[in-house]
Amino acid sequence: MVSLPATVSIREVGPRDGFQNEPETIPTDRKVELIEALARTGCKRLEVTSFVRPDVIPQLADAAEVLARIDVPEDVAVSVLVPNERGLENALALLEEARGQGGRKAFDEINVFLSASETHNQKNVNRSIEQSLAGLEIVLKRACEQGLRCEGVISTAFGCPYEGHVPPERVLEIARRLHAAGAREIGFGDTTGMANPRQVGELFAQWKDGLEEVQLTAHFHNTRGQGLANVLAALQAGVQSFESSFGELGGCPVPPGATGNIATEDLVSMLREMGIETGIDLEALLACAGRVREILGRPLGSHTLVAGPVDWRI
Ligand code: ZN
Repeated sequence: MVSLPATVSIREVGPRDGFQNEPETIPTDRKVELIEALARTGCKRLEVTSFVRPDVIPQLADAAEVLARIDVPEDVAVSVLVPNERGLENALALLEEARGQGGRKAFDEINVFLSASETHNQKNVNRSIEQSLAGLEIVLKRACEQGLRCEGVISTAFGCPYEGHVPPERVLEIARRLHAAGAREIGFGDTTGMANPRQVGELFAQWKDGLEEVQLTAHFHNTRGQGLANVLAALQAGVQSFESSFGELGGCPVPPGATGNIATEDLVSMLREMGIETGIDLEALLACAGRVREILGRPLGSHTLVAGPVDWRI
């Protein structure tokens, strides 16, 4: 009998990972509405936007406005994705401004990312892994000095569409460097949905041994329909922290077609049926997914949104 955790923590990444991949930019008003609704589902961690160059990702060009406008409960940790030193400058300027006004902090956490595959990293951020690490080490150090909690996300940790196999030792080495620079949490991204459950179980068991003081987070994409199977394998390996996207929004700009984070409502539904507590109200979350489907005007990948929650018991 494999033991499973009693509770799981979920970071909702739809407003960043999801919205940035929509061909049509979602109006700021709608983003604010959706983020505020998500923050009231019981979800305690929310990635709301990214400080990327507006000419590269125009969908998130309103990052500062979104952060200034959202009204979320105090106990919800708001995080932003910071790609590089320049992004951090912009994020810190906003933090400074919010502090000056004496209100709530603009955000609580930053997430940085790089790829464990040289080719994917080059295509995604136009840097070598070593160049990325050197920059992110500075970013993490400065963010920590500002009292921000930091997560380092390692993309293509389970395989790369260009290079195929990604050596797990390289992933571990990158994780150790990010941790040494200040990241308290490491996210392992299956960016293009290449992971399988057996591999996930084996790799997390291996990484856990090398990263005792770090919170390990799994970030699965459902590109090939194996997302929730991979969640189960991660749970069995002792992982208690996941990232997912309401409505199964999201994807990865490189390569094209790499779509869909696992849907938060599918994840919450499965965990609820398994008796694992997430703190998230599934019905409230489904209302958010239904609303974004209405705003986008197209069917979404989420299964629970279509079928409804399991509300009966044998
Ligand atoms: Zn993702």
